[in-house]
Amino acid sequence: MSDRYKPLLLVLSSPSGAGKTTLSKKIQQSDNTFKISVSHTTRQPRANEVDGVDYYFINKEKFEKLISTNSFYEYCKIFGNYYGTSKSSVNQITQKGLNVLFDIDWQGSKQLGKFKELNLVRIFILPPSKEELEKRLIERNQDDQESIKKRLLAYSEDIKHTKEYDHVIVNDNVEDCFKKIKKIISERIRS
Ligand code: 5GP
Repeated sequence: MSDRYKPLLLVLSSPSGAGKTTLSKKIQQSDNTFKISVSHTTRQPRANEVDGVDYYFINKEKFEKLISTNSFYEYCKIFGNYYGTSKSSVNQITQKGLNVLFDIDWQGSKQLGKFKELNLVRIFILPPSKEELEKRLIERNQDDQESIKKRLLAYSEDIKHTKEYDHVIVNDNVEDCFKKIKKIISERIRS
């Protein structure tokens, strides 16, 4: 079977605060063949987050049980918490012939790359600068100062991994960035 018949698995990674969430929403709203893969995590939900929608929020014991039963395509620890993509949540989408959108980090992206049978396209979204990222993290008002500091430190680590992606896009304007992603998607779906 050629790639064209396989659902497209689109990975969007970025330092947190680079606009990835906005872009994921725009992709899903503009194209209803894309469904977001809901990850499992052991981190606490934020005020506006809903279990089963933003994440499946589970405890460490349950997460480790899923690891031991080989239930994840990929998982890792970020800021002391586990995050992972279960095989069942991806398969539920692809079995309907739909495309999957992943909001995962570089570690997950790398692990997914090992599954050669997947029709994967990996995009890394960069903020225009570290200063702009800090400004966005402060403005979105979701994280305390300590967490912002951690996220800025993680940024320096994240950007070392851009070469492991198929495309790198600087998000200095959300609309332009979105257009570039749409172009990549349409080229991949057509090819
Ligand atoms: P947050 O805690 O801000 O929701 O997410 C922190 C980081 O975890 C983000 O970079 C996000 O992309 C990443 N992430 C979320 N879910 C997964 C997952 O299932 N696997 C991996 N590898 N990273 C994830």
